[in-house]
Amino acid sequence: MQASDKGFRADLAAILGPEGVRDETRMDEIDPGHHPENLAAGLLALPRTTAEVQAIVRLCARHGVSIVAHGGLTGLAGGAASAPGQFIVSLLRLDAIETVDPLEAVAIVGAGARLEKVEEAANAHGLCVGIDLAARGSATIGGMISTNAGGIEAFRNGMMRARVLGLEAVTADGTLISDLARVTKVNEGLDVKHLFIGAEGTLGIVTRAVLRLVPMPGERATALVAVNDAATAVRLFRRLRGAASDGGLLAAEIMFADYIETAARDLKLENLAGFCAAPVYVLIEMTALDADAARNALEGELAAAMKDGDGFLDALIARSEADRANFWHLREETWAVERQKPGGLWFDVSVPLQRIDDYMNGLRARLDSIDKGLGLYVMGHLGDGNLHVTVATGKPLGHLKDPVSRAVEHGLKAWGGAISAEHGIGIDKRGSLHREADPGKLALMRTIKAALDPLNLMNPGKIY
Ligand SMILES: Cc1cc2nc3c(=O)[nH]c(=O)nc-3n(C[C@H](O)[C@H](O)[C@H](O)COP(=O)(O)OP(=O)(O)OC[C@H]3O[C@@H](n4cnc5c(N)ncnc54)[C@H](O)[C@@H]3O)c2cc1C
Repeated sequence: MQASDKGFRADLAAILGPEGVRDETRMDEIDPGHHPENLAAGLLALPRTTAEVQAIVRLCARHGVSIVAHGGLTGLAGGAASAPGQFIVSLLRLDAIETVDPLEAVAIVGAGARLEKVEEAANAHGLCVGIDLAARGSATIGGMISTNAGGIEAFRNGMMRARVLGLEAVTADGTLISDLARVTKVNEGLDVKHLFIGAEGTLGIVTRAVLRLVPMPGERATALVAVNDAATAVRLFRRLRGAASDGGLLAAEIMFADYIETAARDLKLENLAGFCAAPVYVLIEMTALDADAARNALEGELAAAMKDGDGFLDALIARSEADRANFWHLREETWAVERQKPGGLWFDVSVPLQRIDDYMNGLRARLDSIDKGLGLYVMGHLGDGNLHVTVATGKPLGHLKDPVSRAVEHGLKAWGGAISAEHGIGIDKRGSLHREADPGKLALMRTIKAALDPLNLMNPGKIY
């Protein structure tokens, strides 16, 4: 049976009422997000409670209808893409921030709560979520759990997996898995919550989560640093991380020249990017209890790094909040590249820190062997070796997806890197995963999927 069948729709309306369902008549009320196929199923449920999620999952199991879970639709791997005949379960109404406990430093939230809202609630108690990304206004905690999101602070606080103390999920037959521990130490057999983290909605629907919070940073000092190569950037990162063993290094974001120049042109911030012509730039942010201490720490470390010589060119320190916002704008407004060079191919890879220059040189050579006209625009999270790679010319490059993917992903697994760092597999990276993953690991993933979802109803066609 398909989700569009009358019997299914009637049962659905009985569970959720008319306000809980969107079909072709009201689908335009839903923001379609980043993938053109996100709303292709044409039928979407907006449950308000875990019990409603269970009821509609059981309904789908009875009718053999497959389900695609939706959060904020900011995912960049096509994990939320759907097809006619399928059924979308949006978690956006399960958005309660139930508890922020300042003594235990935990938050209990619904899966549909947006990162920014949870951050604001934690900030009111001097705490923060410990994970941050540019899509903070739209991305939901359930989506971040399901993609095991990373972002700017992962080098300090780990990816989403490290932020989740407990969770609640509904599996394909409607079973509720309630694992809402709010303590760090739980050794009670297999830690099954990890099955749902990074599973992209293929093993169940996450409905609630307990998050581990971290203290809010103090005042910030921010600089844009120009260096000769990634090796110098990595040495600077290691120095600042060592100097800041109290947690004072907040961010280290890398931008290669072609990326920053293109973003600066689009954002009309050429004066910033042009302060020093360099192959590589690093956005550094340090924190301390007061603004002077943060600034002194940053300036002192940068002066020492400059004295050490080799590869360090110059640094521009933010003198105001507006300067700081502009530095971050250059790094976070990544669509600037798409606006300047539409139709490009986007990748998200992890490279061991010592290999970044080798990787960039090798990649340039591999792209040249496909077509010397391919532009390469790269930035990312330096501390994790997480590079966001865009290959673009200004014209649609879909016909080159296979050779360019192979060029971008070449050799990463052998070096101990990853072909998907933080965005997941979805549909976009499936071919790459199947080509590059260890066969034993892939077979185990498929065994787990078949055990939890024997009818293949949870987000079929993704990952495996
Ligand atoms: C400008 C921009 C910057 C970004 N920066 C980063 C970054 O720095 N780091 C990073 O990691 N990502 C980043 N992303 C990607 C994206 O924000 C993350 O992948 C985010 O975690 C997705 O959350 P979402 O709520 O939008 O999920 P969606 O896009 O709605 O869904 C993503 C996947 O999770 C599944 N899913 C969603 N909710 C649930 C649920 N409750 N239960 C089960 N499955 C579910 C979906 O089926 C889909 O497979 C960025 C995206 C944008 C647009």
